[in-house]
Amino acid sequence: MVGKMSELERAAERLRRARRVVAFTGAGVSAESGVPTFRGAGGLWEGRPVEEVATPQGFAADPVRVWRFYDERRCNLARCRPNPAHEVLARWQDRFPAYTLVTQNVDGLHEDAGARAVLHLHGSIWALRCTACGRERVERAAPLPELPPRCTGCGEMERPGVVWFGEYLPEEALRAASRAAAATEVLIVVGTSAVVYPAAGLVQTAAAAGAVVIEVNPEASALAHLADVELRGPAGVLLPQLDTLLTAVSA
Ligand code: NAD
Ligand code: ZN
Repeated sequence: MVGKMSELERAAERLRRARRVVAFTGAGVSAESGVPTFRGAGGLWEGRPVEEVATPQGFAADPVRVWRFYDERRCNLARCRPNPAHEVLARWQDRFPAYTLVTQNVDGLHEDAGARAVLHLHGSIWALRCTACGRERVERAAPLPELPPRCTGCGEMERPGVVWFGEYLPEEALRAASRAAAATEVLIVVGTSAVVYPAAGLVQTAAAAGAVVIEVNPEASALAHLADVELRGPAGVLLPQLDTLLTAVSA
C-alpha cells in the first residue's frame, strides 16, 4: 500500500511541474462505464471473429451483418456514461497549458465528459461515412432506422466511421498526436494494452524523446517497460486520486 501511495505521489509530482501533457487512452478507460474491452477475448470482438466485423473484407462480404453488429454496439454505448476517469482527463484541458488527449476509443465518452479537442486515432462509432462519395455525418440515433444506412447526399450505402484492421489511421489525427507525443514532458497512458499499432507507437515516440511516461492500468501493458511510473489499478479510482493530489496545494 505504501508503494502504491508513493507511485501516485511520484506521478503527481511529475505532473505538477509539467506544462506539456499528453493523455493517451484505450478501451480500459471506458471499462468502468460498462464498455467491454477487447483484450482477452481470444481473437473475438464481442463474440464475433474480428475478420468478420472489423475488416474492410468483412464489410464487403456482408455489409448488413457488419451493420447489425455496429448497430448493437451503438445501442449498448448509448446507455453508457462517462466515468470519473473520463471526467479527470477532460478537466485537465484547463489545468495544463498544452494538453492533448488522444484516444483509440470510438465510444465518444471523452466528449460526453466535456473534453473539447480529442484526437481520435480509430474514428468514432457515431460517425457514418458514405462508401461512394465519402461524405461523413454524425448520427447518434440507436438503433438506426434502416440498415444499412444511406448517404443523405447521394443515397449510396454508408459504413461505420471507425478504422478497421488493415486500414490507415486518419492522417491528420495521427500526425497531430505524433507531434504532441514527440514534444511532451509527460505522457500518461490509460487503459490500453498497447499492442495495436501505429497507435501504440506514440508511447515509444514520447519515451524516446525523453518524456516521463506514466501508465495507469490494472495490468502491465506490452509497453510497461517504458513507464517511469506504474499506477496499477482501475483508472476510475486512480485518476481522481491523482487529480486530488495535484489539486492539493503543494509545499
Ligand atoms: P484493449 O482491450 O486491448 O486493452 C484494454 C486495456 O485496458 C488492458 O490493458 C486492460 O488491462 C486495461 N484495463 C481494463 N480495465 C481497466 C480499468 N478499469 N482502468 C484502466 N485500465 C483498464 O484495448 P486497446 O488497447 O484500446 O486496443 C484495442 C482496440 O480496440 C483499439 O484499437 C480500440 O479502438 C478498440 N476498442 C475500442 C473500444 C471503445 O471505444 N471503448 C472498446 C473495445 C475495443
Ligand atoms: Zn454519398
